[in-house]
Amino acid sequence: MQQNVLHTCLVENIRDIYDAEKQLTKAIPKLAKAASSDELAEALQEHLKETENQVTRIEQVFKLLEVPARGKTCKGMKGLIEEGAEALSDHDEGVLRDLAIIAAAQRVEHYEISAYGTARALAEQLEQAEVVRLLQQTLKEEATADNKLTECAMSLYDTQSAVQQ
Ligand code: FE
Ligand code: ZN
Ligand code: FE
Repeated sequence: MQQNVLHTCLVENIRDIYDAEKQLTKAIPKLAKAASSDELAEALQEHLKETENQVTRIEQVFKLLEVPARGKTCKGMKGLIEEGAEALSDHDEGVLRDLAIIAAAQRVEHYEISAYGTARALAEQLEQAEVVRLLQQTLKEEATADNKLTECAMSLYDTQSAVQQ
């Protein structure tokens, strides 16, 4: 396949990811503030810091690809964040709301894992080793964030079954 086709496709995907990460830097603090569980609030705060780093990493990718750092509205993330907002508007503070936050946040992480996986594959094809390395770093953080959210859910299940006994 022609290199310029792959390059254009990678740039398009990176523009989408750039916008998605920037949307998240605004959305995650609201979810963290609305969480009752300290473990969940801390996990979200921790991932907010990582997300800010990920934005910087994408700016490095733009540089390596020699294109201006410009995002293009990620409609998928917009929808996922809207659903996250519903977790707050539909539920009062408490376990149910926390579980709804986790459900929304895990959808976000999986969406990101999918987007970064595609971008990494394109960068591999283009033999852009430094871009691959940067995308891989973020991919690892997204997977860790997803696992951490699973742990938060497990803690909530435990507290709930303790209440029932
Ligand atoms: Fe991210
Ligand atoms: Zn998108
Ligand atoms: Fe993430």
